[in-house]
Amino acid sequence: MTERIGHFLAGARQEGRSSRIGPVYCPATGELIAEVAFADEFEVDEVVGAAHAAAAEWRDSPLGERVEILLRFRDLLVKHRDELAGLITRENGKLVSDARGEISRGIESVEFASGLSTHLLGSFSEQVARSIDAYSVRQPLGAVVAITPANFPAMVPLWMLPNALACGNAVILKPSEKDPSAPIRLAELLDEAGLPAGVLNVVNGDHFTAAALLSHPGVDAVSFVGSTPVARSVYENATATGKRVQALGGAKNHLLVLPDADLDAAAEAAISAGYGAAGERCMAVSVVVPVGGVENELVAEMERRSKAVVVGDPMDPHSELGPLITGAHRARVASYVDRASGEGARVVLDGREHLGSAAGSGGFYLGPSLIDGATPEMAVYRDEIFGPVLSLVHASSYDDALDLVNANPFGNGAVLFTSSGRWARAFQHDVRVGMLGINVSIPVPPGHFSFGGWKGSLFGDLHMYGPDGVRFYTRGKTVMTRW
Ligand code: NAD
Repeated sequence: MTERIGHFLAGARQEGRSSRIGPVYCPATGELIAEVAFADEFEVDEVVGAAHAAAAEWRDSPLGERVEILLRFRDLLVKHRDELAGLITRENGKLVSDARGEISRGIESVEFASGLSTHLLGSFSEQVARSIDAYSVRQPLGAVVAITPANFPAMVPLWMLPNALACGNAVILKPSEKDPSAPIRLAELLDEAGLPAGVLNVVNGDHFTAAALLSHPGVDAVSFVGSTPVARSVYENATATGKRVQALGGAKNHLLVLPDADLDAAAEAAISAGYGAAGERCMAVSVVVPVGGVENELVAEMERRSKAVVVGDPMDPHSELGPLITGAHRARVASYVDRASGEGARVVLDGREHLGSAAGSGGFYLGPSLIDGATPEMAVYRDEIFGPVLSLVHASSYDDALDLVNANPFGNGAVLFTSSGRWARAFQHDVRVGMLGINVSIPVPPGHFSFGGWKGSLFGDLHMYGPDGVRFYTRGKTVMTRW
């Protein structure tokens, strides 16, 4: 019988009462391995009510107690890292080493939130008027919703939960319906760490479930991570009903290679950041921009390295590229190779012909694809493909390359390879993205900074996790006193 995945409510797994369900696949084999419950509006209404009741008590618990729970949770994440990674790989398809890495990045957010007593410090001004003092505090929002994407089923919830909970909020997490097991397991571990029942609820579901949460008057704030069209609509709809919203969207990240760059290092970075996690990362590089005549050498080097990428079972430690998350997504990604050649680009490598030992396995595998001579008008450049497809767009000068990045509607990350401090400084100053790397392929900030893009990659004002996370999950209050 197919496994049935329900919800995590009031401190326990529950089956769910709606008749709606969705399929969960194992991307490595293509098999249907579970069905996940999709919560209906009446279930959402109940959970929001329960979260409010839990939030009222939780906000009054001492900060030290909340931090202690997080410290125990951190130890449980370390202890269960391999188990969580196995759950992620089974339903998401990413390499088990990537899945372990995702837990490690999530642990950084837990560690940051464990220092909340410092991050929450208010300020005090004595004698602002005769015998009057002024001070400020930050307080939790109440019941907050977290809606998370399929590509990081543990890390993105861990970007949100530690700060939200430590600040004294109750959280309703609606994970992606494609890989729901790891988020439920995170909730169990928080329960084991001592989090009171009802303070974190995991409600599984699809866009109808999400819509019921977003329109519910009892929800105070929404943290969202997913594709740009959904992020935009989540931001517009939820702010229209007075909620605080941070909605992180998709990306089209460029890697620029200047003539003075170490071409070997640049090619290696492009391959690992382009094909790593099968290109299903919002910080994946998808466009490489050789500047001022380095294109022939760079393409040759990238072609050689692309052909050497080992496609295979994500549990096999020798594999370098695992399957995509669903069969439908694989077909969509592969269609861009045909579109690119139809629009006049040169297909250097077609991932459908480079499957290695994964060929014929039934899994959702697609090898690396390399497209040269793309232009900004082509679909392969315009769209977020979210798969192992790297395009090269040639630029004749640094200024042309910078203009290309800045004209792109997305603004998550960008990377420059150079050996010149002058160009590095200029790029840092002028590029219009939220996270940039100089000779660093995936510039994801560590847990004590915050994560977020610009333009169509983020709707809202505050980035995710770190100091911005604390600001997002609290609101300020100033007090004037005379005794
Ligand atoms: P998605 O947008 O399809 O789904 C994300 C979440 O939104 C899921 O929980 C889904 O159930 C829910 N959802 C779907 N339709 C909705 C709707 N109409 N209203 C409300 N909620 C809805 O994204 P995905 O395929 O799960 O994840 C991949 C996308 O996420 C990529 O675009 C990637 O770039 C992006 N992403 C961005 C970041 C970032 O930090 N900027 C990080 C990870 C992933």
